[in-house]
Amino acid sequence: MNASVNSLHWFRKGLRLHDNPSLRLAIDGSSTFRAVFFLDVDSLNEINISRTKWRFLLDCLLDLDSSLRKLNSRLFIVRGQPIDVFPKLIKQWNITRVTFEYDGEPFPQRRDDSVKRLLESEGVEVLVSTSHTLYDIEKIVELNHGNVPVTFKQFECLISKLRSPNSCVPDVNQDLFVNCKTPVENNHDKIYGVPEYSALDLDEEEHERGEWVGGEDEALRRLGLLEKEVAEPKTDTQQEKNSPFPKSSKLSPYLRFGCLSVKYLFHRMNQIYKEVHGKPAPLSVHLPLLWREFFFVVASKHPNFDKMKNNSLCLQFPWEEHADQLEQFKQGKTGFPWIDAIMRQLLSEGWIPHLARQAVGCFLTRGALWITWEEGFKIFEKFLLDAEWSINAGSWMWLSCSAFFAKHSQWMCPVGLGEHLDPQGSYVRKYVPELKDFPADYIYKPWKAPIEVQKTAHCIVGADYPQPIIDHQEARRECVDKLRAVYQNLVSKVSSNVGLGHNAMHWFRKDLRLHDNPSLCEALTNCRTFHAVYILDPVSARAANVSANRWKFLLDCLTDLDKTDICVTKLFQEWNISKLTFECEIEPFGQRRDVAVAVLGEEHGVEVISKPSHTLYDPEKIIDSNDGEAPLLIKTFENVVRQMGPPEKPVDAVNKSMFKGCICPVSSDHSTKFAVPHLDELGFQEEDVTSGELWVGGEQEAIKRLTELEEKVLVGNLKKSVEGLDALRPSRTQLSPYLRFGCLSPRLFHMRLTKAYMKVKCQPPPLSLYRQLVWREFFFTLASRNPHMDKAVDNPLSLNIPWEENEKALDAWKKVRV
Ligand SMILES: Cc1cc2nc3c(=O)[nH]c(=O)nc-3n(C[C@H](O)[C@H](O)[C@H](O)COP(=O)(O)OP(=O)(O)OC[C@H]3O[C@@H](n4cnc5c(N)ncnc54)[C@H](O)[C@@H]3O)c2cc1C
Repeated sequence: MNASVNSLHWFRKGLRLHDNPSLRLAIDGSSTFRAVFFLDVDSLNEINISRTKWRFLLDCLLDLDSSLRKLNSRLFIVRGQPIDVFPKLIKQWNITRVTFEYDGEPFPQRRDDSVKRLLESEGVEVLVSTSHTLYDIEKIVELNHGNVPVTFKQFECLISKLRSPNSCVPDVNQDLFVNCKTPVENNHDKIYGVPEYSALDLDEEEHERGEWVGGEDEALRRLGLLEKEVAEPKTDTQQEKNSPFPKSSKLSPYLRFGCLSVKYLFHRMNQIYKEVHGKPAPLSVHLPLLWREFFFVVASKHPNFDKMKNNSLCLQFPWEEHADQLEQFKQGKTGFPWIDAIMRQLLSEGWIPHLARQAVGCFLTRGALWITWEEGFKIFEKFLLDAEWSINAGSWMWLSCSAFFAKHSQWMCPVGLGEHLDPQGSYVRKYVPELKDFPADYIYKPWKAPIEVQKTAHCIVGADYPQPIIDHQEARRECVDKLRAVYQNLVSKVSSNVGLGHNAMHWFRKDLRLHDNPSLCEALTNCRTFHAVYILDPVSARAANVSANRWKFLLDCLTDLDKTDICVTKLFQEWNISKLTFECEIEPFGQRRDVAVAVLGEEHGVEVISKPSHTLYDPEKIIDSNDGEAPLLIKTFENVVRQMGPPEKPVDAVNKSMFKGCICPVSSDHSTKFAVPHLDELGFQEEDVTSGELWVGGEQEAIKRLTELEEKVLVGNLKKSVEGLDALRPSRTQLSPYLRFGCLSPRLFHMRLTKAYMKVKCQPPPLSLYRQLVWREFFFTLASRNPHMDKAVDNPLSLNIPWEENEKALDAWKKVRV
């Protein structure tokens, strides 16, 4: 005979009967069932949570108890901490199964692990299901090879590979309870009843319910209203009624306490979208829910997500302490009516719209007071009904520009934004009643009102309402300067603990140098880990029709580059790459490959940035300047280039300081896995190399040669030797292999020779001096639009000359035996 199952469902969030898989697991197949919520009433006053929020929770618990009663069950409010009380409950009720909803946040995870260990050691079966998020967080991390995605884009790419969130499970109803009973004693209310509101020491005024009534019933009622609005949109309903803020669902507190299932919301919205538009909803329709999900995923592996210290995602800004200003901000007494109204709404009602959160968040941090976002996080944690540890901390980091941002966010003027959204100031009049009689002209800047106006409005600034705590324009300027300083020193200011930024990979191809390498610099901007990669496949290297001399030159270049420091999809995943940079390829085959790589990047949530630096000018710009066509004659080309003016200056060489704060992970097997190969690995012997010391590859050699050339120009000219200015002529520089492999940037070459020429001639050189460089440029531009540049057939540039085949002669020519 099967032993009977006595189960206990541990409610934490997820305070509902609909779409609650772990609750169903508790009831299904059990003989007895108890629903428990742990609440330490004695410590209510010690926990830093507003009364409004406690009241909302009590609403939810009462609602849950009432729904369970309808199913002949009850909710058991158990006093104490789960880890202390569970052993007693298990014995008392002979519990054999415990179920709860999965919580991915680091602290609850630790708590749940301990409880699970404890229960299992007592022989209790523990069943856990995910229902607070759309997806299983661990699956997303697994899909990303054990790493959490660090950008929203990366996250979006990951979830686009997953199937739509699972369907909802059926509601808990009478049928499920057919064979299952909840033993309820007569003294249930006394021992396990939901506490009275009076336990919260709420005074009468606080008892009054505003707009926010907790519970599943209310959540589903609100969802019903939303569904109606989405199904029959009215054009004039963009604005919230009696509010200056844009309309939104106002479902966040219900999602926070789990009175509403996020999956249920998702699927309902999908269904309505399909009914209205006749096609399935794209994921983007759920953008706010995806941001919610993103923050849960990122925070799940960052235990210090709510702090700056030891938070590898957060930029370390030099925030300042202004205790008095912080206190005035908390109380809604900053002297800025717009800010004060929002803060007072938060304190009294426990919820403010997204734009209002942004307005006060900007004011507290990067827009005025320059106080750390951690303080804002704590205030919101205490007062917001919807405060979720992950979303709250993530949003504060985002808002203060400390993480998850692409560009500087907009400044929100504490005066102008209110004036713009609510010119009459009704919102301020409601929440800052001292100012209710102020004329609209001064409602957002009462300190500017003449004293007569203040008297008439029965509010003297400085006595009845505070003077502004700062000069907001001045504060803004200072904040902008501080932000700029932070960004300028971004790399060095990033936490030494691997700060915010990209896991960047620079793919070296024809730019084997550190000087004038804009895409390499781009990789190092805002970079936390950096990998420099050259992709070389020894098998195809052997098959490629390239001489030993050329391979040796390339290996020299790579060795030279490696001295200064260190497929594609595998690397993206292995190194959790979020940004890939490379030099733009000009030639058609390379262009096609780059497009394919950009698509791969997109698929993997990797930002791909490429910049031109293999030529003096961006060939695309030359073509643009010639009405969209590559110039076919060198004369035309020269004219176009002349009109474009001198090429851009080279960018600064990559140096040590650019690597500050950025880590280049080098594994212990680096030399076996990633080192520059030897020639014999490519199938050549040292003897095959006949170019000897004449052609040593690499940037160092290129710069040495360039410097020698400059000296020849200067010294040779002084001595009136044969070299002199003639040495400038590129045909004589012997730098072409270095330009070919990008060990030397053409722009650096151009700039240094120009300077040398000007020293001698005291005037800029004519274009003709660079004739060979110009020809190089000309051919690149032509080839960029001609995929058959290397063939006689199908090549619109090549005359069809009837060349003849003569293998014998060709062979002799190749072997230098003509
Ligand atoms: C500084 C700051 C702190 C915040 N703290 C929280 C928080 O603790 N809890 C919270 O739920 N939201 C937080 N938000 C995000 C957002 O302001 C609220 O989710 C939104 O205002 C809730 O209103 P709504 O339900 O009408 O949202 P809607 O726009 O109708 O969106 C539907 C749901 O999507 C989610 N959502 C919407 N916007 C975001 C967002 N930007 N990021 C993450 N999820 C979002 C919420 O669950 C919301 O209920 C914060 C925003 C800022 C700027």
